[in-house]
Amino acid sequence: MNEKSPAYELKHLKEWIEKSPPNDPLAVLSVFGDPVKHSLSPQMHNPALKICGINGEYIKIRVPEENFTEALGLIRELGFHGTNCTIPLKFAALNACDHIDKAAQRMGAVNTISFENDKIIGSNSDGPGLVRAIREEFSIDIRDLRVMILGAGGGAGRAVAIQCAMEKVERLVLVNRTKDKAEKIASEIEPDFLDDNIHRDSSRLKVSEWSNTELANEIGNIDLIINASPIGMNSSDPDLIPQNILEPHHLVYDMIYSPSKTKLIRDAKSIGARTANGLSMLLHQGAISFETWFNQEAPIDAMKKGLDEAIQK
Ligand code: NAP
Repeated sequence: MNEKSPAYELKHLKEWIEKSPPNDPLAVLSVFGDPVKHSLSPQMHNPALKICGINGEYIKIRVPEENFTEALGLIRELGFHGTNCTIPLKFAALNACDHIDKAAQRMGAVNTISFENDKIIGSNSDGPGLVRAIREEFSIDIRDLRVMILGAGGGAGRAVAIQCAMEKVERLVLVNRTKDKAEKIASEIEPDFLDDNIHRDSSRLKVSEWSNTELANEIGNIDLIINASPIGMNSSDPDLIPQNILEPHHLVYDMIYSPSKTKLIRDAKSIGARTANGLSMLLHQGAISFETWFNQEAPIDAMKKGLDEAIQK
């Protein structure tokens, strides 16, 4: 999958500063990561830049964590609009910003940086991207659902849990191998579930043990199951949850998009549940970043086509 677009290094940015005339930008956007070569973001954003008539490319740059600030300074000097940040740089990005939006603040992670006048602005489109993905895939708003997050201790699980709290979902059950991490997130978001006089009910938020018995007890009161763990990426991975506790009314969203049909998705489909993989979240977080940089609607069809083509390679 996708080894086509090259990953640049800091040395290339320095060379461009020396060589390239600033009014003829080679690139205008990027994703920073380490490693970054597997990112599909260029294949998603470049068609969008083209269709919107924006000159310059979206590129991947491998940025070691200790060089984050330097890299940010270099792209700013090169006239970039901003950059995405992926693993392991979302925390470094948070600290480098002059201003961060509420979601990024609460998630403790920034995935979108934009340069506005002399300020570095940070935001996080992961959680909002999931909200749009759920609406698109299942034609329902996440706030109307009872949600279970499996893997609610990692970066993605945390972002989604906080977004669910901000959306005030009907009910939220957090499940994580290391239970302490889910409990820490639950204590942070508890006020979101208690400040609503109509639904004042502490059972709306729960941390569950990752055991078949506990999952079976909880799952009857759940509409949407989200996998935010990497289990399912490899064919040798264990079952995420036993198939016999899934029910046809469940909506199953696996944040994994490669493979496109994980065991969880296959199990859920086979009992008649509706399913979707993480490609739509990737697409919508990208679209939200695009809107942040250009203050215009993202050309979602072109971005989706680019992503679909990239994933099929
Ligand atoms: P991460 O920070 O490394 O978190 C991994 C989470 O999965 C943790 O909660 C961890 O539990 C749990 N986990 C890992 N291995 C496990 C195992 N063998 N058994 C049980 N739990 C296990 O990773 P991440 O960045 O959050 O990413 C998680 C997944 O989401 C990845 O598959 C990634 O590709 C996907 N993702 C998709 C999108 C998208 O746009 N579709 C965006 C972001 C991430 P512990 O706390 O116990 O370690």
